[in-house]
Amino acid sequence: MSKNEHWIDLRSDTVTQPSEAMRAAMAAADVGDDVYGDDPAVNRLQDYAADLFGYEAGMFAPSGTQTNLIALMAHCARGDEYLVGQEAHTYKYEGGGAAVLGSIQPQPIANQADGSILLSDIEAYIKPDDMHFARTRLLALENTIGGRVLPQDYVKAATDFAHSRGLATHLDGARICNAAVKNGTSLREAVKGFDTVSVCLSKGLGAPVGSVLLGPKAFIEQGKRWRKMLGGGMRQAGVLAAAAHYALEHNVQRLAEDHDNAAVLAQGLSQIEALKVHAPQTNIFWIDVPAAACEPLREALARARIRATVGPRMRLVTHLDVSAADVARTVEVFQAFFADWRAQ
Ligand SMILES: *Cc1c(COP(=O)(O)O)cnc(C)c1O
Repeated sequence: MSKNEHWIDLRSDTVTQPSEAMRAAMAAADVGDDVYGDDPAVNRLQDYAADLFGYEAGMFAPSGTQTNLIALMAHCARGDEYLVGQEAHTYKYEGGGAAVLGSIQPQPIANQADGSILLSDIEAYIKPDDMHFARTRLLALENTIGGRVLPQDYVKAATDFAHSRGLATHLDGARICNAAVKNGTSLREAVKGFDTVSVCLSKGLGAPVGSVLLGPKAFIEQGKRWRKMLGGGMRQAGVLAAAAHYALEHNVQRLAEDHDNAAVLAQGLSQIEALKVHAPQTNIFWIDVPAAACEPLREALARARIRATVGPRMRLVTHLDVSAADVARTVEVFQAFFADWRAQ
């Protein structure tokens, strides 16, 4: 796509382009072979992220799918199981990797409307120590989940409960920075209670590639073996780590703009009678679109250079390459489309 052909892309916050300043940081990175632990930019990122979130150690990996899988494989052995939400990314959107590659049984549990999993359900699904059952080892939560922020007191209650029952806790914190910014808490506060956390740098934070896994030093060392086995051992990865570092240093607080833009977009779309808008908490929300409108809406948006995943239940995502002006234009395009559509 040429730079002067501006498309408004509302499909995901993964579509952001690295800024000039981020590219400059990448170009200037000192690099080495990270499989030998020799890449200074990777090491700096790992130390910086660990300190920022309050963990002993960190590990940079190519994707959040990989940092989650590494965490699951380091927490659980063959024949163990982890408790996870039905709607969770690790369970639903990672190709079943824990089962396929980790020999770990997922025990999915219904998510409540706010994204939480009931403590009574967690309790009910913990298996007794009996040879008939997989060994329940881990509770994995996700925050934000589908754009929803888990309540802080819920996170404390759920992680305390898991620990009291001898389970470890992992957070899929792909968008934990959105949750912290929304709640106005520090990143350390937002991850409190979790033994380990995976954070995506390539979503709203705007890095082109990469996630970090954070946890105790011995856990991260063990994780590095799994990372190598899974094909995630990278060499001069400092060019990527420099972008990720830049993202963590510069792009966390600005997530508030994405939340504001999502709120304005949702408010504008909610004026359209044909749509049902599920109000956003952060940068991701859903609207219900009449099925018959989907195909023509897709075409109208494409003509207006707006990319979106159009469907009867349609997800819209704001991010650092969507401006307030883009939001206003998107609302106009929707309004014009539905004015016509209703007239037909
Ligand atoms: C994107 C995402 C991941 C995985 O990230 P990839 O880098 O795409 O592999 C994990 N969890 C959640 C909630 C995500 O949104």
